[in-house]
Amino acid sequence: MTESATLFNRLALIGTGLIGSSIARAARAQGVAREIVATARSAATRRRVAELGLADQVVENNAAAVEGADLVIVCVPVGACGAVAAEIGPHLARGAIVSDVGSVKSAVVRDMAPHVPAGVHFVPAHPVAGTENSGPDAGFAALFVGRWCILTPPEGADPAAVERLAAFWRALGANVETMPAAHHDLVLAITSHLPHLIAYTIVGTADEFAEVTRSEVLKFSAGGFRDFTRIAASDPTMWRDVFLANKDAVLEMLGTFNEDLAQLARAIRRGDGDALFAHFARTRAIRRGIVEIGQDSPAPDFGRPHPDLPLAPLPRPYAASDDD
Ligand code: NAP
Repeated sequence: MTESATLFNRLALIGTGLIGSSIARAARAQGVAREIVATARSAATRRRVAELGLADQVVENNAAAVEGADLVIVCVPVGACGAVAAEIGPHLARGAIVSDVGSVKSAVVRDMAPHVPAGVHFVPAHPVAGTENSGPDAGFAALFVGRWCILTPPEGADPAAVERLAAFWRALGANVETMPAAHHDLVLAITSHLPHLIAYTIVGTADEFAEVTRSEVLKFSAGGFRDFTRIAASDPTMWRDVFLANKDAVLEMLGTFNEDLAQLARAIRRGDGDALFAHFARTRAIRRGIVEIGQDSPAPDFGRPHPDLPLAPLPRPYAASDDD
């Protein structure tokens, strides 16, 4: 059987926002599930999911969604995973795989595992892919292509179930890696959670900085600020939950970050250009490494289109004259 052949009979998606709807689109495009059942918390989202034709069935509640499903993926904010697990637990089919997509893993395992009955395989996952947008309209089938999906199976998890879920994610275009939940949380604290915290901070600071008017901040944002604003536009509910759920790892990374920031501040204060140059040269090499392994485009300025130079005549003093 090739990896893109049907892997599951019935895929149930609990939560159909950016990630859930992207899974629905990609799973359908790849034919990895015979049937897709989806649900969401609000009637408005469920209606939209039905309008977009993202699932074969859109049902009203979580318990109904998981009936007869052999793969259940919980795609709700991290802080809601425990309550959802409590609701679906008694309705899960024997032999089914239950997974999630939460950006934090230890807290999700702690909250969901007690509700997963014996005979059901619990294999938490985190697709490291996303955008700053939310909701079912924001999703797209190619979201996971070339991105990593990290599986954090608890000790004693059935290897066949883990491999079946890995095959599912590979069929959606992702690369799959497996690691313990606590290690995932440490890695993501530095690669994702701390950058988000810094972006939320700097955009907030600029907003409060009275000497520079708000219109100037917006006007001259291409100086670097706008790249932070994209991250700082990420969903407030999701990120509130991420920081509360990954508190220890984030605080540990933040401590190291504060020390490094103090060192750079000291170099600036002392006029230590060599220290600044050495630091910036090191970070530039990290960026090159990310491009080299295909995790970002080599196009300058994140590939933003730049308008052509207008073909207007040069002002008089610079224009060629008969005397030149
Ligand atoms: P989203 O677009 O906001 O969608 C969230 C979905 O969960 C919606 O269907 C929403 O229903 C439902 N929901 C919200 N609060 C709920 C609650 N308290 N109980 C039950 N359902 C609830 O969010 P998302 O970006 O897809 O994120 C979903 C999960 O993916 C999160 O755990 C996040 O950590 C993880 N993740 C996100 C990204 C990213 O970049 N966004 C990347 C990787 C992983 P309604 O629409 O009806 O409110």
